[in-house]
Amino acid sequence: AWTAETVAIGSELLLGGRLDTNSLFIANCLAASGIELRYKTTVGDDLSDMVTVLKAAARRVRVVIITGGLGPTVDDLTREAVAQATGHRLVRRKAALDEMTARLAQWGRTPTTSQFRQARIPSGADILSNPVGTAPGFALVWNGTFFAALPGVPREMEPMLREGVLPRLHAWMPTQKVKPAMPMIRRVLHTSGVPESVVDQKLAGLVPQKSSVQLGIYASPMEVMVSLTGPAGAEGSVVLERLFEEANAKLGDIVYGQEADTMESVVGRLLNEQRMTLAAAESCTGGLIGHRLTQVPGSSSYVDRVVVCYSNRAKIELLGVPPDLIDRHGAVSAEVAAAMARGIRERSGVSVGLSVTGIAGPGGATETKPVGLVHVGLDGGPGQAMTKEFRFHGGDRSVIKQRASQAALDLLRR
Ligand code: ATP
Ligand code: MG
Repeated sequence: AWTAETVAIGSELLLGGRLDTNSLFIANCLAASGIELRYKTTVGDDLSDMVTVLKAAARRVRVVIITGGLGPTVDDLTREAVAQATGHRLVRRKAALDEMTARLAQWGRTPTTSQFRQARIPSGADILSNPVGTAPGFALVWNGTFFAALPGVPREMEPMLREGVLPRLHAWMPTQKVKPAMPMIRRVLHTSGVPESVVDQKLAGLVPQKSSVQLGIYASPMEVMVSLTGPAGAEGSVVLERLFEEANAKLGDIVYGQEADTMESVVGRLLNEQRMTLAAAESCTGGLIGHRLTQVPGSSSYVDRVVVCYSNRAKIELLGVPPDLIDRHGAVSAEVAAAMARGIRERSGVSVGLSVTGIAGPGGATETKPVGLVHVGLDGGPGQAMTKEFRFHGGDRSVIKQRASQAALDLLRR
């Protein structure tokens, strides 16, 4: 079978300063190619450690994808380590130097002495051009193992993996005496508003015991994600597609999207389709809803404004919430959520007003109003207003804010 290992290079990954997210991206790409990722290794900027790791990888897998340590500084040792581990010399390659010089010229710069190091590449390796930054990557085959070295910066690494590494890998694999890889496909559904146990129950019995398709249910603060993974190919994809449709039907309206959809992109699409405009008034979410809505390209066609009205005074002054309503029911109440939603809609003249008020904790709770209590209001005009109460248990301030923002956007979807 085809096996792989990722090697993330950089002491910062070991010191707790940064998470190795490159391996996640690589894992997804390898799975789609039918290559089984067997090891994820992380190693610091130490030459002999790196050589040890690379030699071990060469013995146990057929594909090694290295990220990081290709920069111009003295602690960027990947070129040297690959050369030592595979017994190659480092040679300055004109093609690499030319590309780097051209890139720097675009930015009005010339290469520095240290940047010349980046053009030193193991002899015989293929140069992988870097469309975003200066450091070229490289790929070589040694002792039957395919090595690729890419920069650590995700924005540079990702296109280079897709456009440089994978095509070379796919061309090389059929030349090897290894059972052909079985590419996998993955389909994803996003659900909101219910815990994973409920999703699990609804999908009980969906995938037969001996099926080649794997069901995954993953909970995160904002959603429960369902994935179906199975072999690609004509027959496999029919089976997968049928199970996907079945899962979608069983889950019903708790499904808010598929694949790369986010709640904010789905809501945006709906508002656009119905030519509606939106204004939101946020208390406990502190602008998170506004941030999420405006992360979607084109959101200016439906987002009018988002007001963060944290204090009682702000709710009164900016939204016209009656002071005595706050006195009688408290700021975290269905009554105030309704007044906030109506206030923001009337003051902005949009088609829908959305509001959130709640207790994110850890303080501010009372006997009747615990941490995690959130009221959401939606107002589409006279006779078209509603509020909904949520009680989010467990989770810190940031989790409660995330869940409140998700619940509010979800209400908009329904
Ligand atoms: P540069 O030319 O920027 O120095 P490089 O190839 O030398 O590129 P590194 O110096 O190892 O790469 O890392 C550059 C930056 O890329 C790091 O500061 C970090 O922000 C990010 N990075 C590196 N490795 C990873 C990783 N495995 N996952 C996520 N981010 C990473
Ligand atoms: Mg670096």
